[in-house]
Amino acid sequence: MIPCEKHGTCGFVESCKHVRQLLVQGRADEISVIRAYVFRMRVCAQCIEKHQLEKYVLEKPEQRKEEMSEPDVFWRAFEAAYDDMDNRIAWCIHCYDELHDKYGI
Ligand SMILES: [Zn+2]
Ligand SMILES: [Zn+2]
Repeated sequence: MIPCEKHGTCGFVESCKHVRQLLVQGRADEISVIRAYVFRMRVCAQCIEKHQLEKYVLEKPEQRKEEMSEPDVFWRAFEAAYDDMDNRIAWCIHCYDELHDKYGI
């Protein structure tokens, strides 16, 4: 939970710092949702590529296979990529939804 000036104490969405701008520009289709353990994270295409997060994007068929066969390797690689993302932000889930509804397609 995080504090939001507008909505009080709220659940949050974690994303790379570029997501807000993409939403405002009506480019929501360039935002990918990735699995971060039991959480979901929103990441732009640029960061997916830079941090090699492609296999963590939701609904990738190879994801389950790799996770099942080598879970330690799979998640350790994610942890490393996550730590490497120095541009993460956590923001209020309601603020995110508002932006998404306002500009999303
Ligand atoms: Zn990004
Ligand atoms: Zn809020």
